[in-house]
Amino acid sequence: MKNLLFESILGFIFIMVSINCSGPKADLVLKNGVIYTVDENLSQAQAVAISDKKIIAVGTDAEIEEFVGMGTQVIDLEGRTVTPGFIDSHYHFMGVGRREFQLNLDGTKSLQEFLDKVATEVAAKSDGEWITGRGWIEEDWPSKRFPTRQDLDKIAPHNPVILGRADGHAIVVNSKALEISGITKATEDPQGGKILRDQYSGEATGLLIDRAMSLVRKHMPSDDSPEIQREYAKKANEVALAYGLTQVHDMGSSFGSVDLWKNMYENDELKIRLYVCIRGPNEHTERLLEEGPQIGLYDDKLNVRAIKISADGALGSRGAALLEPYSDADTKGLLIYHDEEIYPTIKKALENNIQMVIHAIGDGANRRILDLYERAFDEVPESKRSNMTPRFRIEHSQIVHLDDIPRFKELGVIPSMQPSHAIGDLHFAVRRLGMDRMAEGYAWRQFIDQGSYIPGGSDAPVEEGNPMIEFYAACVRKDTTGFSTDGWHPEYKMTREEALKSLTIWGAKAAFSEDLIGSIEPGKYADLVVLAKNLMTEPEERLFDIKVLMTIIGGEIVYKKEEFLSSK
Ligand SMILES: [Zn+2]
Repeated sequence: MKNLLFESILGFIFIMVSINCSGPKADLVLKNGVIYTVDENLSQAQAVAISDKKIIAVGTDAEIEEFVGMGTQVIDLEGRTVTPGFIDSHYHFMGVGRREFQLNLDGTKSLQEFLDKVATEVAAKSDGEWITGRGWIEEDWPSKRFPTRQDLDKIAPHNPVILGRADGHAIVVNSKALEISGITKATEDPQGGKILRDQYSGEATGLLIDRAMSLVRKHMPSDDSPEIQREYAKKANEVALAYGLTQVHDMGSSFGSVDLWKNMYENDELKIRLYVCIRGPNEHTERLLEEGPQIGLYDDKLNVRAIKISADGALGSRGAALLEPYSDADTKGLLIYHDEEIYPTIKKALENNIQMVIHAIGDGANRRILDLYERAFDEVPESKRSNMTPRFRIEHSQIVHLDDIPRFKELGVIPSMQPSHAIGDLHFAVRRLGMDRMAEGYAWRQFIDQGSYIPGGSDAPVEEGNPMIEFYAACVRKDTTGFSTDGWHPEYKMTREEALKSLTIWGAKAAFSEDLIGSIEPGKYADLVVLAKNLMTEPEERLFDIKVLMTIIGGEIVYKKEEFLSSK
């Protein structure tokens, strides 16, 4: 009797063990790490189990052990930090690819250094070939003045030259480029654009702002051959994955790009998730409104469900539309469109489950767009809307009148902001806006405290596109040398937890994807990043230097730093 009981207990235990052994097994387990899940309670874990593209369990090393089977790849993190894959909510995907093939003027420290770089490029080209480059910021130079065509003519008399300011809202060109474009003293400023002119002679200085840029650009040899575009996309994919990005919100492309990306997903050439905004208003945005959104393609790698429009320019080139004139020039900036050019699109988007994503930097442009959104919400009854939470966004939301900040919350409008713009602009924003208006600049604290969430982004290639720079900028609010300035409101900065949310779950929410990505929780796609240092404890001045060791999208290791985990 005793023996029998003993045997049956043994048998029971055996059955329990075999049930346990035959439980679900993971394809991939990461263990022995510091995992910031960014779930509702911001809980931490040690290990995560991944099967068939998705996370199946998160917990302690002991809890996750049971998911390890014969075929499971196990990675010992050796105490390293893991976060959800980074989401860059304002990114120009093809622009990042193009940047890698152009003369890069990022970080030039003087006009002379800038000219030297251009001269080297000119020497490598034959006469008549276009010289294209980007990335200069005159505010970083001791002279602090815009470059002119005369500066460029000295080094490039025979080649047309076109060089973009880092913010993407101004170009400087030489006399050859002006000549090819037929721009003379008599050429009028286009609506929404400005040709800077010499105050005595009235001749163009070579600096063209916002819509005036296309006067020259349309004469450039096109780079839209399918081969070149594919190279740009491949390069951008590579750059993004190496920075730990797992989804980027592409701020304005055409259906031509969408078709290319579909082809690349089908051939497994693209790994990054793309949330696509179609740029308009034009026939492409009309088509999107007509055909409706494309949601969740290729395991949610591709979503096409938003329209991007620019309401104004940028602060650096004084194209941002302000309510009151600039403090350092007699202008209020530029509104690119009349209301009637964009309102019908906004209204139709609300009716057709398309998200509106509008660029507004100045307080004038922000108020204008809030007004137009509010008008659409008033005019389109709920019965006519296909989505009760349209999640309309304002990109940048940089300078917002204090009376207008609460309207974001009331209207459910998302302030999509780029922390690195704040630490770049701090070198000149006070001059452009004056001390008092700085209270309404880059007001992350007010937005978060009133219950708005801020999807964070880099606007790459305007900025580098490195999420750790965005993280640093958001929670330190100084430039990368540690510099800040009077009137900069250090108290507006985010906490590290908020900055991490802004680069993960808040970005997912702004793309309607919070049930699929943005945190490390069972049931979601396994999008993760392994970091070399802990971003929650690393000293502030070293945060932007934290390297990405591994990037995982949908359970697939899509980037691995060579010297790291080579054995794994
Ligand atoms: Zn942008």
